[in-house]
Amino acid sequence: MKILSKDKLESVLDKLSESAEVFVPLSRANSSGFYSWKNRNPEKERLMLDALNVYLSPKNVGFPQNEKMYSIIQSGPNAEIKETFEDSSPRIIFGLRACDARAIRCMDDVFLTRGYEDSFYKARRDNTVLIGNACYEPGPNCFCQGMGVDPVEPEVDIIIRDTGAQGYIWEAKTPKGEELTEGISSLLQEKELKAPELKAFPTQVDYSGVAEKLKGMFEHPIWEGLSSACQNCGICTYVCPSCHCFDIQVKTWGEEGYRFRCWDSCMYTEYTTEAGGGNPRSTTKERFRNRFLHKLEFFTERYGYPLCTGCGRCIVACPTGINIVNIINEVKEASVDV
Ligand code: SF4
Ligand code: SF4
Repeated sequence: MKILSKDKLESVLDKLSESAEVFVPLSRANSSGFYSWKNRNPEKERLMLDALNVYLSPKNVGFPQNEKMYSIIQSGPNAEIKETFEDSSPRIIFGLRACDARAIRCMDDVFLTRGYEDSFYKARRDNTVLIGNACYEPGPNCFCQGMGVDPVEPEVDIIIRDTGAQGYIWEAKTPKGEELTEGISSLLQEKELKAPELKAFPTQVDYSGVAEKLKGMFEHPIWEGLSSACQNCGICTYVCPSCHCFDIQVKTWGEEGYRFRCWDSCMYTEYTTEAGGGNPRSTTKERFRNRFLHKLEFFTERYGYPLCTGCGRCIVACPTGINIVNIINEVKEASVDV
């Protein structure tokens, strides 16, 4: 089997960075996220492959927080597209966990299937290689397994398995992964190592039957209590690797301008405010209910699996302690004859 020894890790990242932008988990200021290896500040930023999950997921790599789409020129009532900004530059996400890999599958389904392809997403995705870091010791807020994700088999092009001081087992899983492996083969060793055993999850979740049960719970009083602490701050949607709502805006000066899109949040009032001033989700309860029904019911109905990957980030980030695991448990226990 192929092994990446830990003393060769930086050489591999340097080598990969010669032909692609390589995004790795890094500490940055008081936070952490996936940032360019080449552009890191080695004095201040630390590679965090040993962390279970960094604060910000790699969502931004395939679905940027702000993205210029077209430049336009207006002439009277007509507008002409001058340039389209699809970015197909090669990129690699190195060290993402199985929960974040599943979130990329969610995005792939949303942006690339069911008869519609988002060309901006596709240009990046077609040129992105995923190198996943298998998890063997789930943290206190991890519950990916309960949401149907296998922590030791991330859905990626290459899996690395941390065996400790001996290095990482390196397994190419797809043709893209094999091609990338070829390019760095001189930095890998041939050796037999045993992968660690997966430890038990401290947080257990039973999602079975939840999507079906939620179908009959749109008007259930449970939503009043569950949403009562929510401040509609939107942090949960921004840290979530699978939330993908966006807004499209235009910026103009004189006859020129451009269209751009940026992340939005279903937790905000403006998200559903209509031009005439009406709003079908004007209350916190309605917005909160929509977020969790989308995660746990609607997406499962459409794609066959939930839009929550069990990464636990929203549990850590929510300023009022709202916890999606408790929501799943309360839905399971709720009486539907009310
Ligand atoms: S809803 Fe929460 S736990 Fe689920 S994927 Fe999003 S951030 Fe992670
Ligand atoms: S982070 Fe918590 S308080 Fe903020 S919008 Fe999400 S659920 Fe509500």
